[in-house]
Amino acid sequence: MNVLIVFAHPEPRSLNGALKDFAVQRLEAAGHQVQVSDLYAMGWKATLDADDHLDYQPGMPFSPSGDSKQAFANGRQSDDISREQDKLCWADALILQFPMWWFTMPAILKGWVERVYAYGFAYGVGEHSDNRWGSRYGEGNLAGKRAMLIVTTGGWDSHYSPRGINGPIDELLFPIQHGILHYPGFDVLPPFLVYRTSRMDEPRFAAVREELGQRLDTLWQTPPIPYRKQNAGEYEIPALTLRSDLAPSLSGFAAHLSQD
Ligand code: FAD
Repeated sequence: MNVLIVFAHPEPRSLNGALKDFAVQRLEAAGHQVQVSDLYAMGWKATLDADDHLDYQPGMPFSPSGDSKQAFANGRQSDDISREQDKLCWADALILQFPMWWFTMPAILKGWVERVYAYGFAYGVGEHSDNRWGSRYGEGNLAGKRAMLIVTTGGWDSHYSPRGINGPIDELLFPIQHGILHYPGFDVLPPFLVYRTSRMDEPRFAAVREELGQRLDTLWQTPPIPYRKQNAGEYEIPALTLRSDLAPSLSGFAAHLSQD
């Protein structure tokens, strides 16, 4: 299988760097092909702007989605964007690896998403009409592929527990796992989390590596998070609210998990 790791840490000798190197070795030892997009090492441009579109005419109003649509459709995106899209098409599984910074991904990785997820590639896919909101949330160009986060946090696991002060980790990661990964079609596996990173020593690092190794060995067997699919009849059209007979006592993020 082909695995793409998109890695967002500025220091290769960091804990994240060591875990990334371990992941590459483990996957390759199992016979998988691995590509790494090491965003800092690549000097990845994080800001989405008119320079992303080769046909942009200076002086014209820039439309972030409209120009993206034209550039993608006409093969006129900047090369760095096309190369990352090619890697995504090649990959059977995507791993986004990052330290939690201010409760989400580092800006450079958000910029990778904003620029690589072009109109027509990751959104604006499929029929859009009064009765259909396109192919997304379980459908789309990246459907059939798997995705998983590897995230490290300074905070303790209790800080991210259901009543923890930082908020539950599943809820903090919902915009990434549901919004960024499930939206264009990925089946999203439960995240691999390393909490309380300041308390890392050799024995714990060995245990973390072992646990990560198990997750990588079972990348194709682990059941995905059971997010509901947009076009499976569970949402009212066109409001896209969950049908009132499904999970009637739930609202918020939890309602979008299938209870079956
Ligand atoms: P490092 O700092 O590289 O290492 C962490 C520990 O692991 C160190 O003790 C180091 O000695 C040890 N280590 C490193 N490599 C190895 C190795 N090869 N073998 C054994 N031990 C090793 N945390 C939160 O919880 N929530 C937040 O919102 C948040 N926001 C942040 C915002 C910013 C801007 C920053 C800078 C940090 C923030 N943090 C937050 C903390 C951050 O998540 C952690 O610092 C980060 O996850 C640690 O990962 P690292 O790869 O940088 O670790």
